[in-house]
Amino acid sequence: MTTYDLLIKNGTIVTADTTVQGDIAVKDGKIVEVSTGKSLEGTANREINAEGLHIFPGMIDSHVHFNEPGRTEWEGLETGSRSLAAGGATSFFDMPLNSTPPTINKENLELKRSLAAEKSIVNPYFWGGLVPENIADLKDLHENGVIGFKAFMSPSGIADFNNVDDETIYKGMKEIASLGSILAVHAESTVMCDQLAKEKIEAGKVTARDYVESRPIISEIEAVRRIISYAELTGCKLHIVHASSRKVVEVIKAAQQRGVDVTVETCPHYLSLTVKDIEEQGVIAKCAPPLRDEDEVEDLWRAVAEGEITTIGSDHSPAPASMKVIKDNIFDGWGGISGAQSSLNILITEGHFKRNVPLEKIVELTATNPAKLFGLENKGTIAANYDADLTLIDLNESFELKKEDLFYRHQHSPYIGKTYKGAVKTTIVGGEVVFENGQLTK
Ligand SMILES: [Zn+2]
Repeated sequence: MTTYDLLIKNGTIVTADTTVQGDIAVKDGKIVEVSTGKSLEGTANREINAEGLHIFPGMIDSHVHFNEPGRTEWEGLETGSRSLAAGGATSFFDMPLNSTPPTINKENLELKRSLAAEKSIVNPYFWGGLVPENIADLKDLHENGVIGFKAFMSPSGIADFNNVDDETIYKGMKEIASLGSILAVHAESTVMCDQLAKEKIEAGKVTARDYVESRPIISEIEAVRRIISYAELTGCKLHIVHASSRKVVEVIKAAQQRGVDVTVETCPHYLSLTVKDIEEQGVIAKCAPPLRDEDEVEDLWRAVAEGEITTIGSDHSPAPASMKVIKDNIFDGWGGISGAQSSLNILITEGHFKRNVPLEKIVELTATNPAKLFGLENKGTIAANYDADLTLIDLNESFELKKEDLFYRHQHSPYIGKTYKGAVKTTIVGGEVVFENGQLTK
């Protein structure tokens, strides 16, 4: 009789293609068999009865800011990865800017990688930065395994991570294209945002609505059009992160239709929160690009349903509570939404239950597409020979998110107090249970 490390029986297995009842056998960190017809025989060190539970491939959160090394009082690889595990994510791609030093050369990458090996309870991957000073380092970063490169077209807010001018965009994209890698871009127009913010502040207009109006959708569109032009010129693969509106997505779709290799991410907050949340919660719900109005949320869900979005990442961007308090005006508070733990809860509740988005689509955007786009060959679905990164979810369980449920270093989030349907019961990374029934087990 075959002996496995782990047998998961009678679950509802969800992949990007289909949903079926079945068993999953795991050995040495890999899925070795998926049986959908008859029950898997054999013994295992551990057997999980998944009757009544849905099994997703673990979320690959392609967009987090964990701030380690150097700014761990904001978050950290341990607290960040624990939050992900509690939310059903099994891999993350950490952004290059918020650590000190930032991930802009090989040495800094190695430092972050060694810390992650020690502290992370899920699979860590890293973005390299593209800044005006590091074109010569891109090759080294690529050869040492960064998942891709990230650049800011507007100021990042971090002093040692400069935004790119058009010359850097051109040279950087030429180099990234020659490496066969991909550039992810925060696309907002510096000039538009700066001028509008200046006018607002000078006029004493500093409400949530004023902040949102100072970073309009047209500013995203301007930057997206410009960076797409450089993608067409250089042939560099391009990924637009955190599109806040379907109007932005449409520009990307038009470029795809004329053959440009460009993809797009959106985030759970643009799919579930609005300007009203900034008005009610202040800086806790401040981010850039900002939250939009209800009609934009609905349009973005239509873009999801119609296959126009490539990936969904949390853009978990934490900061100490003291930086989230409004002093004189909202322009001064530190932006960034803490959400790594809530992505699947939001997508299942707002997408599946409220708007009939198929579970398969949620799996595609959170696991299958990120794995494909960024070359994680053994991840992103549930099949033999794939890594045993799995999430067991009870779709019938509702819960109200409480502050004390959060595993972040700083327990604030715009999602506290909201009710979600679909609770993450068990998270498995490489065949090992890391989270179960509300508790971390690693
Ligand atoms: Zn981000």
